[in-house]
Amino acid sequence: MLVVGAGPTGLAIAAALSETGLRVAGLSAVAPTKPWQNTYGVWLDELPTPELRATLGYCWSDVVVHVGRRTIPLRREYGLFNNQRLQQFLLERGERRGVVWHTGVAVAVEHRATHSLVMTRDGRAFAARLVVDASGHSPALLRRPAASHVARQAAYGIVGEFSAPPVQPGQMVLMDYRSDHLTPEEQREPPTFLYAMDLGGGQFFVEETSLAHVPGIPLSTLERRLHRRLDASGVALRQAVHVERCLFPMNNPLPYLDQPIMGFGGAASMVHPPSGYMVGKALRRAPEVAQALAQALSAPGATPLSAARAGWQALWSPPWLRRRQLYLFGLASLMRCDSATIQEFFAAFFSLPRREWTGYLSDTLSTAELARTMLRLFVRVPGRVRRTLIAAAGAEHALLRRAALGRV
Ligand SMILES: Cc1cc2nc3c(=O)[nH]c(=O)nc-3n(C[C@H](O)[C@H](O)[C@H](O)COP(=O)(O)OP(=O)(O)OC[C@H]3O[C@@H](n4cnc5c(N)ncnc54)[C@H](O)[C@@H]3O)c2cc1C
Repeated sequence: MLVVGAGPTGLAIAAALSETGLRVAGLSAVAPTKPWQNTYGVWLDELPTPELRATLGYCWSDVVVHVGRRTIPLRREYGLFNNQRLQQFLLERGERRGVVWHTGVAVAVEHRATHSLVMTRDGRAFAARLVVDASGHSPALLRRPAASHVARQAAYGIVGEFSAPPVQPGQMVLMDYRSDHLTPEEQREPPTFLYAMDLGGGQFFVEETSLAHVPGIPLSTLERRLHRRLDASGVALRQAVHVERCLFPMNNPLPYLDQPIMGFGGAASMVHPPSGYMVGKALRRAPEVAQALAQALSAPGATPLSAARAGWQALWSPPWLRRRQLYLFGLASLMRCDSATIQEFFAAFFSLPRREWTGYLSDTLSTAELARTMLRLFVRVPGRVRRTLIAAAGAEHALLRRAALGRV
């Protein structure tokens, strides 16, 4: 097996594959120990094994959402990974089972009857019974249909010290959609929210985020909005320790599921469309996908095509495809909301029964449960939000039809 890419999802699938007994090599454009730059957050109850708790750098139990005049306590623990610990944890799990990483940029793949050959920019070739492309949102080797209207999450964040706490001490703010500090004109622009947390030791992370928009909201707009928000609450930045610039696709089309190569992570369009989260899900799903691949490769006469088919069938089985269509509809609905509507939407969302909103965000509901949750929300939201959802259903009826039929 050859895994291409050493981001969180590449390391997770390489470790899981090696634990099935398969011989695994990795190929990464940069050393697999090179520090990851992104700040990765996760709900603690999403971690598939207790050992992963040790890879968290921060945890909060005081987690809130601010919408309109309401502050909603979520009573669900949230954490930020310590990237170095997560990386080391996954690398060591693989190393124990003999995973060897090579550094090189994959530029092409050729498929033969019994194996595939990955070529690197510097002229090397790596042969494997199956290749798993985990090279991120713009995959190096996987093919997917061209898409013109991809929604992007964009965020501009600062880790730093401030003249006063930008959030309550010890608190994590998942979303602060309040927009009173904006002019009426700005309030008609696509809404953005503050994602913020107390990191301890006098440091805070504050990030102005656009959940999703086509095209992505410019980072300069988010930077300006972040400073406007801080100014309005009388908080000045004293010293920036790190700046995060974030832009990634939320609804990339799925790769073709009939190609003789497997994908995982951003490459396989695993981002949760209405939230943008993926790392928790990738950690959770890696063993199941690895098992399916191992089983397919153990069959007599297995080929790259037969193994990849089994992998895609596990990753994107009809129930997962149906739920993806429902989530894409959820994303399309959110993108139609203005600032006031999205605040009413989330006030209703986080007032759903806990099992429903947590399951919605973590993609752990069955298809029927997910559809019921969305219907319950539809019934509960105020008229203005309901009209937005009806307009979205009118415009996106193809998504809902595909959800019913379980098509891509
Ligand atoms: C700033 C930011 C913050 C985010 N925060 C969160 C969060 O809080 N929680 C969450 O769940 N998700 C978050 N996401 C979304 C998503 O989880 C990340 O984008 C995640 O990094 C994707 O993981 P990945 O392993 O699929 O790809 P990547 O992390 O992009 O890793 C790809 C790997 O492939 C290698 N590679 C690329 N091309 C080649 C090639 N041609 N040959 C060989 N190797 C190659 C790269 O060097 C890299 O090692 C965030 C995204 C961004 C950008």
